[in-house]
Amino acid sequence: MQEAFLFIFTRKITSMLNIVLFGPPGSGKGTQAAKLVEKYQLIHLSTGDIFRTNIKGETELGKLAKSYIDKGQLVPDEVTIGMLQSEADKHTNPAGFIFDGFPRTIQQAEALDKYLNGRNTSITMMLSLEVNEDELRKRLLLRGKDSGRADDQDPAVIQNRIDVYNRDTAPAKEFYTKQNKYKGINGVGAIDDIFQSLCNAIEARVNG
Ligand code: ADP
Repeated sequence: MQEAFLFIFTRKITSMLNIVLFGPPGSGKGTQAAKLVEKYQLIHLSTGDIFRTNIKGETELGKLAKSYIDKGQLVPDEVTIGMLQSEADKHTNPAGFIFDGFPRTIQQAEALDKYLNGRNTSITMMLSLEVNEDELRKRLLLRGKDSGRADDQDPAVIQNRIDVYNRDTAPAKEFYTKQNKYKGINGVGAIDDIFQSLCNAIEARVNG
């Protein structure tokens, strides 16, 4: 009887769908995350969005983050990890999380594993949007015109973000490849086609 209860309980807490949506700046993470959140009822945690909310609100965290973001650098790991965890802690029983823009370093990936482990769950898979650099530069400059995001308006800042991605962030793929959780998805094409590829990959993973 007790065993049966434990089994059901464990099933419940390990069945969260936790997705890392990965890819270089401008690869479409935000667009696809919004669609995935709606379809799978997930909690969307975008570190970029949380930083921008803090910058707008002129909080201490916002001021600190702005000094890095304006230069196209990463906000230091300890700040980002602490912030992400306190945002995730606000949600006690979600169907799952979609992590967008996090982890961006190996250290962040390790911290995320540890955090989820403490909640008796884990990352289901990393979905990585693959887009070539010419296309990224084009998309970011275009977004800079509409969104007013300062970090999307300066070609030198854009290049720095792409370089930081290649140097510091891309290695996080290895982290999930080693756990057999990495899946690359072509991020060039129609938004709905890319979304369909992401859903297919999720369903293939969840249904074994
Ligand atoms: P994009 O992926 O289009 O560059 P984001 O909105 O995800 O944009 O992030 C904007 C900026 O916020 C990044 O260039 C970086 O400075 C900072 N940032 C976001 N997520 C992280 C993170 N996980 N670690 C460190 N810095 C981050």
